[in-house]
Amino acid sequence: SIVVTGATGHLGRLVVDGLLEKVPASEVVAVVRDRGKAADLAAKGVEVRVADYDAPETLKGAFAPGDKVLLISGSEVGRRVPQHTAVVGAAKEAGVALLAYTGVLGGPEADFLLAADHKGTEQAILDSGLTYAFLRNGWYNENYTENLAPVLEHGAVTQSAGEGRVASASRADFAAAAVAVLTGEGHENKVYELSGDEAWSFEEYAAEVARQSGKEIAYNDVPAETLHGILAGAGLPEPLVATLVDVDKAIARGLLARRTGDLARLIGRPTTPIADSVAAALKG
Ligand code: NDP
Repeated sequence: SIVVTGATGHLGRLVVDGLLEKVPASEVVAVVRDRGKAADLAAKGVEVRVADYDAPETLKGAFAPGDKVLLISGSEVGRRVPQHTAVVGAAKEAGVALLAYTGVLGGPEADFLLAADHKGTEQAILDSGLTYAFLRNGWYNENYTENLAPVLEHGAVTQSAGEGRVASASRADFAAAAVAVLTGEGHENKVYELSGDEAWSFEEYAAEVARQSGKEIAYNDVPAETLHGILAGAGLPEPLVATLVDVDKAIARGLLARRTGDLARLIGRPTTPIADSVAAALKG
């Protein structure tokens, strides 16, 4: 079977839908922590297995010998290494054929806060001796375009990334890459640095949102401390604020601008431009 963890998440649902276009539903398994959220997946004929990254005993029945598994990274930053290590252990125990993992662009060279868990997870996978595929995902267009409301309200894209550029692609592009790896041949022990074909600056992003919305939108490039204050003032918890401010520092240093062409090659088409995701978001 082809098994997708985090199948009720945004990326996971796109991967499951992509798989269903290529293989029969009887070959697809969704691993979820909340069966109630997976009713639509079950209705499509996908087998649903319940397991929690936090509870190793629940992971025992998640995988079977010969499965190809996509481990979609969890969302609790800082707790993911033990969580993912438990998944890797269960996959090893079951004797899966391939473990694909959604890491971060640059892999161990990505030295920002958010990347640490991915580095630790990749190491755990290497240590397990399992056959792997590392899908090192760059930024989603949607990280920005799903948060347009405050931009339109204030007439400003407020970031702290200087002239740093982001080679983002749509979530659907990254999902299609995972589908290609899970259904194709020759991906054993391969590392893919996945990013968009074009890298844009926040200045350009603000101009694009302005063009499409017909509003005046500036890039408000603020110092890190100012962004910290704005995010904290909006009620975000401190660890998340620190992580987000640190992402902008990484962008300023060019760490998310890398363009390798791996993503377009895997999906067999150009990646989705940020302008298309802006248009989709404005349409609602
Ligand atoms: P989502 O938050 O939509 O999905 C995360 C998935 O992980 C959900 O299905 C969630 O389950 C599942 N999950 C979280 N914790 C556990 C757990 N303890 N046990 C089992 N499952 C768990 O994020 P996306 O789908 O958009 O992105 C996938 C991952 O990619 C993120 O989790 C994050 O690691 C990373 N990411 C990457 C970004 C990028 O720009 N490259 C941006 C944002 C995230 P449930 O559905 O029950 O909540």
